[in-house]
Amino acid sequence: MTVLDIPPDSLFGLENLPYGVFQPRGSAPRVGVRVGDSVVDLAAELGDAVFAESTLNPFMAQGRGRWTEVRQQVTELVRGDITDTAVFAVDEVTMHLPVAVADYVDFYASENHATNLGRLFRPDSAPLMPNWKHLPVGYHGRSSTVIVSGTDVVRPCGQRKTPETDSPVFGPSRRLDIEAEMGFIVGVPTQLGQTIAPDRFAEHVFGVVVVNDWSARDIQAWEYVPLGPFLGKSFATSISPWVVPLDALEAARIDTPAQDPEPLPYLRGQEKWGLDIDLEVEWNGHVVSRPPYSQMYWSPAQMLAHITINGATASTGDLFASGTVSGREKNQRGAFIELTWGGKEPVKVGNHTRTFVEDGDEISISATAPGTNGTRIGFGEVRTRILPATADGGQEE
Ligand code: MN
Repeated sequence: MTVLDIPPDSLFGLENLPYGVFQPRGSAPRVGVRVGDSVVDLAAELGDAVFAESTLNPFMAQGRGRWTEVRQQVTELVRGDITDTAVFAVDEVTMHLPVAVADYVDFYASENHATNLGRLFRPDSAPLMPNWKHLPVGYHGRSSTVIVSGTDVVRPCGQRKTPETDSPVFGPSRRLDIEAEMGFIVGVPTQLGQTIAPDRFAEHVFGVVVVNDWSARDIQAWEYVPLGPFLGKSFATSISPWVVPLDALEAARIDTPAQDPEPLPYLRGQEKWGLDIDLEVEWNGHVVSRPPYSQMYWSPAQMLAHITINGATASTGDLFASGTVSGREKNQRGAFIELTWGGKEPVKVGNHTRTFVEDGDEISISATAPGTNGTRIGFGEVRTRILPATADGGQEE
């Protein structure tokens, strides 16, 4: 039997207990919990077939009561003796995409980010659109290109056109960017026509991941009017492998910033779902930004209420992301287009300078939050390397 050794300052102590899908060498992917630098095999230790699955979806569909029960069981399990064969070192297993992503929606909930992007994309008009403080603005993304940390991304090709030229050209994106975000994963679905009020958030949402919403700014700038982001974002969205359950975030819950004008009634709730999460962006191993989630204008409970208010279904495995997290200060901006002000103000990355992401660059976004009992909990990281575009844009003959 094994007694887990959890360092007192671990970001993965008993207050966290995030779920993921791991694969030891030579055996099948299955559900585990991260504790310290170990992964505990739930398929081996808890008698429920949902943990032998290769996604969290069947477990997430069981609902809030069951999530609480399992968290209690896991807490007792990791405090006691665990079968030797059910414990793995985290660096000796392969982590998979934790959920089969159903629908993917991305919001735009940071006032700082929306204001900065408005200034950069539309310098001659008011930075925030008239709807921005009345509803959480979002778009439907591409769920099939949500990928797990560690998966390389090939630089996308597409059309781009600058104001200086008469017609567009095709080729590799020259303004490849990141967006540091948090993502929320739905466990309990709804029927068509049903809605989710903000105070029902915790009944439906299972947990939270770190998201990097890859964005080709030159492709985006040319295509986005009038229907919004399309190929400039659909090529890849990276997420962290560990899903931090909402139960681990009790100490991180705060009020959102004051919302003025007051939102319409369907976007109001009694429960606090602002989150005191600190993000960190590393570019080739150098920290370039620390975006604070606490400044996000819209809460994830309001986002989910908005997604469903027209009767659209929520499904097990839905992922909705917050939009780029940007603070007020320059070194808190969660996208490089903001950090370098459209490429005009390069940033120092170690001994080099950068504006946008170059081939071979590696980006890691991580996050931490207050845990209960004065602890700190970690979300782990989403790490991605960029590979060069293929010469023909990947087109089949
Ligand atoms: Mn985004």
